[in-house]
Amino acid sequence: MDFEIPENLRLMVDTVHRFVKKDLEPISQQVDDEDRIPEEIVQTMRELGLFGLATSEKYGGLEVGCLGECLVYEELSQVNACFRTRIGTNNGIGSQGIAIDGTEEQREKYLPKMASGEWIGCFALTEPEAGSDASNVQTTAVLEGDTWVLNGRKHFITNGDIADCSTVFALTDRAKKARGGITAFVVEKTDPGFFVGTIERKMGMRGSHTCELIFDNCRIPKDRVIGGDAMIGQGFKTAMKTLDKGRLTMGASALGSAQKLLDLSVDYAQQRVQFGKPIAEFQAIQFMLAEMATQIYAARQMLYHAAWLRDTRGTSVIKEASMVKLFCTQMANRVADMAVQIHGGMGYMKDFPVERFYRDLRLTRIYEGTDEIQKVVIARNLLKGGK
Ligand SMILES: Cc1cc2nc3c(=O)[nH]c(=O)nc-3n(C[C@H](O)[C@H](O)[C@H](O)COP(=O)(O)OP(=O)(O)OC[C@H]3O[C@@H](n4cnc5c(N)ncnc54)[C@H](O)[C@@H]3O)c2cc1C
Repeated sequence: MDFEIPENLRLMVDTVHRFVKKDLEPISQQVDDEDRIPEEIVQTMRELGLFGLATSEKYGGLEVGCLGECLVYEELSQVNACFRTRIGTNNGIGSQGIAIDGTEEQREKYLPKMASGEWIGCFALTEPEAGSDASNVQTTAVLEGDTWVLNGRKHFITNGDIADCSTVFALTDRAKKARGGITAFVVEKTDPGFFVGTIERKMGMRGSHTCELIFDNCRIPKDRVIGGDAMIGQGFKTAMKTLDKGRLTMGASALGSAQKLLDLSVDYAQQRVQFGKPIAEFQAIQFMLAEMATQIYAARQMLYHAAWLRDTRGTSVIKEASMVKLFCTQMANRVADMAVQIHGGMGYMKDFPVERFYRDLRLTRIYEGTDEIQKVVIARNLLKGGK
């Protein structure tokens, strides 16, 4: 077994680490306060190629593989996970439908623009009646001549307000639903009948917006079905394939934040004096630090292993990706809870980043499939004969 991170990935991570320290760390709290990422930071992200980490070189991306993507997200999430979210939809759920199942024309049209960061992509599956049960989408698409007409409403869509193109899942055959009745489309922001609705007010992950998308007789050309006519009705499969990689990268983001919380806690425990000595000398505090470090170590091993399996063996990692998301995000939430505890009242104050990490991490157990849905996926794979 070789646990060395490949040289090319280490160089890239070093570059991202310098960007994080120099440009992101100083503004991480400001981004939370103002609920926006400054445009000059987004421009630097473009210049570093971060919007195209996952995209094939053929379409202008860096093609760093799943492990490379995870390593970058770990770095970004050490300061504020919203930086990951900004580039995340272009590398993940906003582009993967097209990358995996799109036609060559669709790939050539959309992937270079998303890889460069010129365009932002998003993924619009969730609706008020279709959350964990994503197969229950009610948005419809009807073919009228050479035009598809979409009607319905999506909610909780990350980057929906800034997206130039959205991967949208709609019912094309109500009777068949997920088994041949849902189709994936690309909708562009200038398409008639497409509107951005309410921007939701959230507990955390400020700096990343989540919103409603409305399709009111939204008319798009016939060739916007992802994968072309042969893929009409196959959109639910496209959605599931897209989410599989996202679950690994979500684990990486949670891991990065957990690592930062441990580092902050180790420092604070050595500085904060109570009863005449640093609180780090109390065994109760030491045990929390030991628990945090152990859980982070375990999470990192399983994440890197699953990413490596996906990159080098071409193995289907559906079950492993769900395990990684479940374990890493639960672990990071436990770590955040202990970090607040170690920081005492200071951990509850907005002057300290621990409070922000605590809020932001809560989301990771909900989106791209809740804990419970990850368990459903893992159990389903086990029961059909997986190890
Ligand atoms: C900030 C944010 C950003 C998001 N970004 C996107 C995005 O970009 N694109 C997108 O399409 N969606 C997005 N989502 C939606 C997200 O994926 C859903 O919120 C998530 O899948 C859960 O759906 P729900 O909120 O409707 O909860 P529900 O499905 O209503 O779940 C409520 C509870 O019931 C449990 N539950 C449901 N079914 C079962 C079951 N079968 N067994 C056991 N327990 C079950 C759930 O685990 C949960 O605990 C985002 C959500 C948030 C909060």
